[in-house]
Amino acid sequence: MALLRILSLEDLPTDAELMQHVLRHAGLEFELRRVIDEAGFRDALESFRPDIILADYMVPGFNGMEALALRNELRPAIPFLFVSGSLGEERAVETLVAGATDYVIKDRMARLPSAILRALEDARLMAQMDAERSLRQVILETVVGMIVTVDEHGVILTANPSAERLAGSPDAAITGRTFWDCYAPDEDITSCKLKLAAITRGVIDAEFSWRGVSRTGRTIVWTAAPLRGDPRTATRLVLCGIDITDQQQAQEKAYYLDHFDAATGLPNRKLFLLQLQQYCAAKTTETGTDIAALMVCFDRTREIHDSYGEEVLQQILAEMVRRMRTWQVQRELLARTGEQSFSLAFEIAGEAEVDTVIPYILKELHEPVEINGTSWVLPVHAGVAVFKRGHQTPDELALAAEAALHDAQARNLLYTCYHPRLAFRMRERLQLETELHQALQRPDQFAVYFQPQVDARNHSLTGLEALVRWRHPRLGLMLPGHFIPLAEMAGLMPQLGHLILKAVCRQMREWRTAGLTVPTVAINISATEFAAPALFDNIRAALRENEIPPELLELELTESASMQNPDATVTIMNRLHSLGIRLSIDDFGTGYSNLSYLKKFPVDRLKLDQAFVRDILVDPDDLAISQAVIAMAHQLRLEVVAEGVEAVEQLDLLVKAGCDGIQGYLFSIPLPGESCVALLRSGVVSPTTPVLPA
Ligand code: C2E
Ligand code: CA
Ligand code: CA
Repeated sequence: MALLRILSLEDLPTDAELMQHVLRHAGLEFELRRVIDEAGFRDALESFRPDIILADYMVPGFNGMEALALRNELRPAIPFLFVSGSLGEERAVETLVAGATDYVIKDRMARLPSAILRALEDARLMAQMDAERSLRQVILETVVGMIVTVDEHGVILTANPSAERLAGSPDAAITGRTFWDCYAPDEDITSCKLKLAAITRGVIDAEFSWRGVSRTGRTIVWTAAPLRGDPRTATRLVLCGIDITDQQQAQEKAYYLDHFDAATGLPNRKLFLLQLQQYCAAKTTETGTDIAALMVCFDRTREIHDSYGEEVLQQILAEMVRRMRTWQVQRELLARTGEQSFSLAFEIAGEAEVDTVIPYILKELHEPVEINGTSWVLPVHAGVAVFKRGHQTPDELALAAEAALHDAQARNLLYTCYHPRLAFRMRERLQLETELHQALQRPDQFAVYFQPQVDARNHSLTGLEALVRWRHPRLGLMLPGHFIPLAEMAGLMPQLGHLILKAVCRQMREWRTAGLTVPTVAINISATEFAAPALFDNIRAALRENEIPPELLELELTESASMQNPDATVTIMNRLHSLGIRLSIDDFGTGYSNLSYLKKFPVDRLKLDQAFVRDILVDPDDLAISQAVIAMAHQLRLEVVAEGVEAVEQLDLLVKAGCDGIQGYLFSIPLPGESCVALLRSGVVSPTTPVLPA
């Protein structure tokens, strides 16, 4: 412990000596400074910083009472003891009233040590209490919680600044008003009064909590505890309030984010499954109908997002949601269950109804969407599953719809209805996808075949269409219909497309090097490849590396792909056209062509879809469409190539309709590169009885 510092106001050195002797004798260790006048006293208060002051009452020129007054003014916390000759009771009382800590008579000096120790202890306790009081004060002032004390009538006695703020304006004088007046909205006043009364009277246990809304709209949890001090006074209550508005909002937001899709405001997958459970439970106890779950997927949303931005995508989706909402006439469910997919659940009269209801629904989604003057058509696929009472859980129903969707996507069908066989097909497809990944590392598994295109009148060779095949190690030669949709879904199409482009250009160079006359070779470009930024550079590089004149290369883009976002198609096509290559629209007649766009596309040819050619002999409509397409194309100065021509009768009709080019088994099936040599040498192909491909 630090040495005790004693300041002594004492004019008599002998008395001071005696005092020190007594203190030392009592075992106190101290340092003592003796002063005899005001100047010395003042200076010692400053520089000596005493722990205690011992003062004689009578000192010539500066007596003890004056010293006490000075201590009160400058250092009120330092204990002040009078050590003096007998003063008489009245004066002694006077000193205590003036603030002295104690009084020791010089004749009874032996009491001095204990008096000093007690005074010091009292001072220490005093300082501690002061510290605690100011700590409490600081807490009250700064705590975010509201702390209010009320009397037994609910009248506010004290309120900390947070409580004042909650009551209204920060400096609102709220003491004297009732608690409910300040904190309860009108409709809660009665219940608030009752609560406080019950707690005050001890009917409800202490530490009672409730949640209320303040007049300012904040959600507060109040805890009330009775403050029982003096048993004779009535009970006061301390009310502590914690504002939980933000936490509550955060919780609500977390719930929202957890159960809804923020972009469309629709329930998400999690909530859909919960709702589906309720829906199935409610519906199956009702009428005899079944429940169908439909999962719809807009395949291109990711590409649209990446190429045109969030804004455009959201506008398109908002329109799709609007269309889907129009089917919600009763309590049908609608949710966004994936990044690109939406799910619906509705009643259906049985599986037989699926084929009438679903195409109707999907057709509407397939109508073009107009966004800022641009029209978009989103490719859509769907999967349906029907809930048979007692056979499936709602979760299984949703999974079945999803499995059906994947099947529809993989086979490029508009929709598929769930069937147990799908699970097997799914596994098969997953394996195929893995193998496709591997095959892309070993490009020799892919082969390009070429199918001749001929002039409709003289049958001279005008072009070749490159068609890819996969020499699958397990399943043999595989046609593109089995793996192109899979590659598209797996995002592998740009990679596979690049591989095909290089293979085609290499083959062309080989032929040219061998001195053969190579006509235009057409390559099929899928929608994802077409939108991929690398396409342009890849084509330029392949042409340059193989020294191929650009006009010998043609790209075929399907009509539906070209109309997904016709404005973008125009831009990309113009860029490709600037390379000097040729462009054509494939499968024409099946999509939803906007003729005004067709005019803007820098294309050279239309390829009339096989579907029209197939039935051209039996279906007058197909003949009429073929004739109309040919006439319109010629108006736009475009050539028409008919695909899938297998019979001479078909050829005759097409020639009559003015068709320019012909492609089909009637002239040749697609051939491996080496088998084309004779063809390239002669430059003509004659119609034969078609040799159908294995
Ligand atoms: P597509 O572009 O319409 O190609 C024409 C398809 O019709 C080819 O099928 C061809 O073999 C077949 N075909 C030709 N003549 C006849 C005929 O007289 N009768 C019938 N019934 N069919 C005929 P393939 O080779 O199976 O290709 C199917 C589709 O796969 C192609 O349709 C094309 O969309 C796609 N595809 C093929 N190769 C590629 C490629 O390298 N890249 C991309 N992105 N897609 C490709
Ligand atoms: Ca084609
Ligand atoms: Ca075609």
